Amino acid sequence: MARYVGPVCRLCRREGLKLFLKGERCYTDRCAIERRNQPPGQQTRMRRGKLGGYGLQLREKQKVKRIYGVLEGQFRRYFETAARTRGITGETLLQLLERRLDNVIYRLGFATSRAQARQLVRHGHFIVNGRKVNVPSFSLKAGDVIAMRSKSQKNPIVLHAMEEVKGRGVPEWLVLDGQSFEGRILGLPTREQIGLPVQEQLIVELYSK
Ligand code: SF4
Repeated sequence: MARYVGPVCRLCRREGLKLFLKGERCYTDRCAIERRNQPPGQQTRMRRGKLGGYGLQLREKQKVKRIYGVLEGQFRRYFETAARTRGITGETLLQLLERRLDNVIYRLGFATSRAQARQLVRHGHFIVNGRKVNVPSFSLKAGDVIAMRSKSQKNPIVLHAMEEVKGRGVPEWLVLDGQSFEGRILGLPTREQIGLPVQEQLIVELYSK
């Protein structure tokens, strides 16, 4: 699966927002946004003016794609699924992204960033409902149980990550049993529980043109 491999702080600077792509560093004053919150590249700085309708819609889409680490083709497929589903399309889109296994691993605090969670999933450290799953985009549903494989529970990277993110807390739609390295999905997240600073309606408008 293709993915972005360039400098990630650049993406935050482009959006003018902390996207929390780098794990621990994002919570320190070494964060590039804290130090220098301006778009990358001299040309961009010179051209930066007030964004119009299309510009705003595009920026919201890029923001969400970057937060979840999803490329254009896959993101459009998520949108098409959301558009076919009953309910508010923008909210359903965010729900679909939140239900990804890599995102849930991150939200449960098994990883410091979604990128790290993606790598842990690919390396086969997790089981879902008793079966090994190594696909980061695997879509979870209410009632699913996600657990770390017993031999992975001593992995120093995982232990370090869990220690680092202890204070972050787990969202209300998930429950974590830290002792048994196990998490469960209580229900799909509401828009409030997702809590991202994005205007998903602008993405719907962009794709509906
Ligand atoms: Fe973004 Fe994290 Fe880099 Fe800060 S440290 S700019 S939040 S990726």
